[in-house]
Amino acid sequence: MPSYEYLIVGAGIAADAAMHALREADPHATIGVFGAEAHASYDRPPLSKALWKGTPESDIWRDVRSTGADLHLGRRIAGIDPRSASVIDDRGITHGYAKLLLATGGSPRRLRGSGDRILYYRTLDDYRRLRDLASEPLRFAVVGGGFIGMEVAAALRMQDREVEMFVGEDGLGTRLFPDDLSSFLVDYYREQGVVVRTVGRVDVEERGRGIVVRTGSGAEFEADVAVVGVGLSPNVELARDAGIAVGDGIEVDAFLRTSAPNVYAAGDVASYEQPVLGRRIRVEHESNADAMGRAAGFAMAGQPAPFDQLPFFYSDLFDLGFEAVGELDPRLETFADWKDPFREGVVYYLAKGRVRGALLWNTWGQADNARRLIEEMKPVEKNKLAGRLPQEEAA
Ligand SMILES: Cc1cc2nc3c(=O)[nH]c(=O)nc-3n(C[C@H](O)[C@H](O)[C@H](O)COP(=O)(O)OP(=O)(O)OC[C@H]3O[C@@H](n4cnc5c(N)ncnc54)[C@H](O)[C@@H]3O)c2cc1C
Repeated sequence: MPSYEYLIVGAGIAADAAMHALREADPHATIGVFGAEAHASYDRPPLSKALWKGTPESDIWRDVRSTGADLHLGRRIAGIDPRSASVIDDRGITHGYAKLLLATGGSPRRLRGSGDRILYYRTLDDYRRLRDLASEPLRFAVVGGGFIGMEVAAALRMQDREVEMFVGEDGLGTRLFPDDLSSFLVDYYREQGVVVRTVGRVDVEERGRGIVVRTGSGAEFEADVAVVGVGLSPNVELARDAGIAVGDGIEVDAFLRTSAPNVYAAGDVASYEQPVLGRRIRVEHESNADAMGRAAGFAMAGQPAPFDQLPFFYSDLFDLGFEAVGELDPRLETFADWKDPFREGVVYYLAKGRVRGALLWNTWGQADNARRLIEEMKPVEKNKLAGRLPQEEAA
């Protein structure tokens, strides 16, 4: 049976970070990577942002070749057997490992409808397909008001396409932002020419040459193409079938070990105990996949260090942009320190008098300070937060 010292399932962001760490820590080891997509590792964030603003596709590739890993692309791992330390691929070939990393990411949640004109947006191939469609004067329905929906709607609108958003809640980004900011975003998107419908849950189906969005009350809206962004399910099936502990994601300890010997997990698929937040979390963001993949690589190569990173992510919405650190849960108490309401400022998220998260809204250069503030875990008086994370002065 062919075998690798390090075998990685998934060839995304966490896998790429792990490959580099492994190569750094263990220069001569054999590394095998199986990725279901036909492409080697690339950055996903530009698929809904920079590529629509003129950045060339050639900029998204990660440098995996320099790691010397054996890349098996367009190949899916169909099963793993921790007892015999082996995996089986979709051609029925068994591969052994000394250490295994599960970096399988997640799959977009699906509605009932499927077909050529209904895109569940996740991959480079999805981007290419949407880009092609957006080169024609078609009408686009975007389902979902989370960050994928908001970014894709903005990207399409910036190509001058007709865009209608279907949002289950009363605002945009309601899982992240306080109500007033979510409502502002609805108005803001409408000002940009996006039709925003807050219509509760919808379904989509292909009809004729286009699609139909149907609301719970039976109202129907036609468009040519639907892009659906209604959340992600972690790809845990391999782990679950192998008897590895799975909750919301594959559960790992501080050293990214799963419940099976010599099997690790990292990235969107893995959940870990975050000591400052005091609970197990699963993070669906690039910086987490990068840091966790890297930490997993070092741990697998015998250089473990506890992984305890706070969530961090960023987004661009037309000419607004933000960075977010820690826990952004609008059910927490919030304190908004606006320099210019909804255009520039910081929103703090607090529990029991301590800051747990910070939204840096068009406010740059403060992510590290926000991280320190959260990690201090000191009681703070809300009003004293005003001016605490000031905008970086322009150079
Ligand atoms: C359009 C878009 C925009 C985004 N923008 C941002 C952003 O602005 N900021 C941010 O922080 N994050 C953003 N993200 C999220 C970020 O890209 C993810 O958090 C990150 O890609 C997770 O990396 P990962 O390696 O865990 O998973 P992935 O990058 O999803 O890689 C997992 C890979 O594993 C493969 N795989 C799964 N099962 C198998 C199997 N059985 N065998 C072989 N291969 C398998 C999958 O096909 C996939 O290629 C965005 C995501 C998308 C889709």
